[in-house]
Amino acid sequence: MRYEFLLLILLTLFSQGIHAQISAEQAHTCAFLEEWRNLKAIPLSELAAQENRTEAIANWQQQVFAAKTRAANQSFELYMSGRLPTKAFTNCLSDEKEKSDFMEAAADIFFNRSLKILETSNVKSAILLAKNVRKKISSGSLVTFKISSHLGSLGPSSTPNPAVPTAGYHRERHSIYASIDLIPPNEWLINFCHELAHFLDGERFAYANAIYNEEKTHHHFLRLAAQFSDPETLTSADQTRFDDFMMSALDRGVLGEYRAWAVTLLIYKEGVIRNTSDRGLWHPISWAEDWFAQQRPGESIPQLSMRYLDPSFTDPDPNDPDAEEFQTELFQRELHIMRDRVRTQLAPLYDLSIFF
Ligand SMILES: [Zn+2]
Repeated sequence: MRYEFLLLILLTLFSQGIHAQISAEQAHTCAFLEEWRNLKAIPLSELAAQENRTEAIANWQQQVFAAKTRAANQSFELYMSGRLPTKAFTNCLSDEKEKSDFMEAAADIFFNRSLKILETSNVKSAILLAKNVRKKISSGSLVTFKISSHLGSLGPSSTPNPAVPTAGYHRERHSIYASIDLIPPNEWLINFCHELAHFLDGERFAYANAIYNEEKTHHHFLRLAAQFSDPETLTSADQTRFDDFMMSALDRGVLGEYRAWAVTLLIYKEGVIRNTSDRGLWHPISWAEDWFAQQRPGESIPQLSMRYLDPSFTDPDPNDPDAEEFQTELFQRELHIMRDRVRTQLAPLYDLSIFF
C-alpha cells in the first residue's frame, strides 16, 4: 500500500507539469480500487471447483465486501488529505453497476467518518451540530447520504455558486447529496455541515409544507382576495391565519436557506484556521470569505445571511400556473409585508437551538 501511495504522490506531482500519457497515470490513480477489483474478478467457476463450494463462495463474498469497505475508507483518506486525484470517481469506476456499488459503500464511510471528525473536533458549534444529527438519527429519523461524481438534475442548488451544484438536500426524500469530484477537500466539511443543517431543519420544513399545502386555506384566501386587496382590512383572525400561511411559504424557501446558511457561517467562522496555532477544521475558503467581506459593522452572522440571500429569492411569478394566487393584490401585498418583516425583524428567527 505504501508503494501505491508513493506512486500516487509522484504521479500527482508529475501531472502538474505533464499532461500527456494520461492512461498510464490513470491506472495508478485508481489504485485504491485494485484489491477490491482483483477479488471481484475471481471467476465463480474457480470457487465452485473448491471442495466446500458454499463456504468458499460465502468467504469470497465476505472478502469482497471487506475489500470494498477498505477501498471506500482509503478513498476518504486520500480525498481528505488532498491526494485523491481530480475526478477519480468519475474516471476510475468503470460502469454503472460498479459505480453504484462503490458509491453506496463510500457514502456510508464518508458520512460516518465526516460526522466523527466534527464530533471529535475542537469546534464547539460543529460538535453540537453533529450531536444533534446523531440524536435525530437515533430517534428514528432517516437520512440517506449519497455521493456522486456530479449532481445531475437536483434542482436549485443552495451552494454559493449555483452554476456548479456541489451538494444538496432533498427535503422530501431526506437525502443529502454531495458531489465529491466537484468539492475541494478543504471545503468538504463545511458543505457537509450545511446539508446537515438542512436535515435538522426538516421538521420545520414539513410543518410549513403542511400549512402551505392546505387546500382549504388556499381557497379561503382566494375567496377573500376577490373582495379585499389590503391584508390589513381582514379580520384579525384572518390576518393571523394569512400571516401563518405566508410565513410557511417563506419557511419553505428563503427562511429555510437562511437558517442553514446562518448555521454554516457560524460554524465556518469558528472552524477556520487562520494561524498555525488554530485547531480548526478548514483553511479559509474564498466563497465564505466573500460573505464575511460584506459583513457590516455590528451586523450579526444571521443578519448577514439574510441580507445576502434575500435578493436571490425572487417572488413567485404570477404567470406561473402553480402560483396563480399571486396574481391577486391581496397575496402580493401580504407577501411584501411578510418579506419586509423577516428582513427587519429577524429576532424570532434567530432561534437556532435545533442546530446547536
Ligand atoms: Zn442550502
